[in-house]
Order: sequence, then structure tokens, then C-alpha cells
Amino acid sequence: MSKRIVIALGGNALGTTLKEQFRAVRITAKAIVDLITEGNEVIITHGNGPQVGIINNAMTALTHEDAKQAITPLSVCGAMSEAYIGYDLQSALREELLRRDIHKPVCTLITQTVVDKDDPAFQNPTKPIGKFLTEEEAREVAAKTGYIMKEDAGRGWRRYVASPLPVSIVEAPCIKILSDGGAVVVACGGGGIPVVEEENHHLRGVGAVIDKDFASELMAELLDADMLILLTAVEKVAINFNKENEQWLSALTPDDADRYAAEGHFAPGSMLPKVQAAAKFARSKPGRRALITALEKAKDGIEGKTGTMFFQ
Ligand code: ADP
Ligand code: MG
Repeated sequence: MSKRIVIALGGNALGTTLKEQFRAVRITAKAIVDLITEGNEVIITHGNGPQVGIINNAMTALTHEDAKQAITPLSVCGAMSEAYIGYDLQSALREELLRRDIHKPVCTLITQTVVDKDDPAFQNPTKPIGKFLTEEEAREVAAKTGYIMKEDAGRGWRRYVASPLPVSIVEAPCIKILSDGGAVVVACGGGGIPVVEEENHHLRGVGAVIDKDFASELMAELLDADMLILLTAVEKVAINFNKENEQWLSALTPDDADRYAAEGHFAPGSMLPKVQAAAKFARSKPGRRALITALEKAKDGIEGKTGTMFFQ
């Protein structure tokens, strides 16, 4: 039976440099098209950490070269990263589909994600971005821009931004129309561009980053998907990860996931948001499932041969 699946790509699906990404998307496209050949409708999302970092550094460097060059807001850097990654993905997907004689339109949609301006995350920015600076340079940047600069694990000073929760996805109706119409859609890249709602329908881009696992989960709910697949670098979720009593899990109920999370089995910022997103989706409506597995195991995972499946 054909399903609507939201697939979230982790960092390993894209690599960290231009060259790596060009190669990685070809492998990624094969894994995704494998799922399309089974008759599934897929919507693809992805992370953007390294890419938005490169763009942000490049745009900042430009301001040093040319005094008239204004600072490019992080929200604009996010839009650039969505377009750049989407371009590589849509091009690799189109090629792989045609290679298998599948004629489906492919597109990327630049997506905005609404966050709450009163989200407590704004009081405690946790995500370091941009270049490492000396303390003196950092103080100068802070004075000039109002950015929050902090020490990053003994390696130097960096800008810190908040990671608020996604509240709604502005372009969700467009993504639905495209997907209903048979297109393969890449959307909500990097979790979407964070925006806050202001008066007169204005959406203001904010200097923050949205966790792509939480944004993918929200998108899967809004599109009434049957399945959310979070593709990453590990085949399964483990408890006692990297310890001698490590145990890989094939299935998890949302309640067990919550319990293991509270016991500290999943690393914050990496596996924890995935497990929380998967549990939330599995709980959101009867019949919905979420899968966490490795990129190259996506097809086996859907068939129940591997991965960690979340269901009620
Ligand atoms: P992505 O770019 O796909 O979001 P992350 O690095 O953020 O990848 O998260 C996936 C990583 O989380 C895995 O590669 C693994 O090293 C790590 N990890 C932390 N805790 C666990 C766990 N309990 N089980 C499996 N992997 C874990
Ligand atoms: Mg991650």
C-alpha cells in the first residue's frame, strides 16, 4: 500500500564541503528513489549545520573586505542554504528517477517555520555558530552587533544562537499541494527559516536555528504523513550507547522512549531530539509510525528488517 513518508536527512547524507555534498547526494538520491519505486509519496527534509556555517562565514568575511557591505542576517543565510542544498538534492533526485525511467517532477520549496518570540530558548542560546574568535574580537563583535558571544568548550569564542521549538510551518499548504500533485518535494531544509509573527501579517526572520528533527516531525503531522523516517549515521537506536552493555533496539513505544530519555540514554543535540521527535509522531495519531535508521538501510528499515521503529 502506498504511504506518505517524510524523510529527514542527517548530516552524513550531505557531507560537509561542496565537493562532499556533490558526491553524497548521489548516494542519498538512490536511497530515496528506492522508496519511491515502492509507490510511496515522499517529502524530504534535511539538516544544514555545516552549510549554513560556511555561508554565514563567507558573508561575514565580505563585511571585512568591503565596509559598505551590510551584515547578512542568519535567516537569509538559512534561505541560501535551503536553496543550495535543495538544488543539489533536486538535481540528483531528478537524475536518479529518470535513470530508472520514473517520470515525476522534483522541486525544492524555501520554507519558513514560525517560532514563538517568547520561547524560553531565546533566554538561553545553546547553539554555537560561525568562526572561532579571540575574546577581544568577540567583545568587539558583540558591541557592534548585539550578538551573544560565549566561550565554546575551550576552543575560542563564538556567536551563540537559540534553538526554539517549531510552532507552525508557513508553506505547509504549498508542500501538500505539490505532494498531492505527484511531485517529490524537498522542503523545510535546516528546520526551515525561523520567523516570528508580527503585526500586519509580517513574518520577521530571527537569528536562531531550529532542530531539523523537531521541524520534520511537525511537517509530518501537518501533511498527515503515515511515516516519519529519520536517516542518520547509525542503523539503530541504542541504550547504554558506547558502553559494554550497549543494546540496540528494533522497536520502541513512545512511553519506553520517554523513560529511556529520562534515564539519559540519548545524547542531547544528537540522538535525543530524534528519539523525542519519533516518539511524538508515533503518539500523534493511531497508525502513525516513525523509523530511525541509517541512510543506506532505509528500504530494509521500511520492510521491518532493521532500524528502530516507534509505534504505540
Ligand atoms: P544527524 O546529522 O543525522 O542529525 P547526529 O550526529 O545529530 O546526526 O545524531 C546521530 C548520532 O547520535 C549517531 O551517529 C550516534 O553517534 C549518536 N548517538 C548518541 N546517542 C545514541 C544512542 N543512544 N543510540 C544511537 N546513537 C546515538
Ligand atoms: Mg542532529
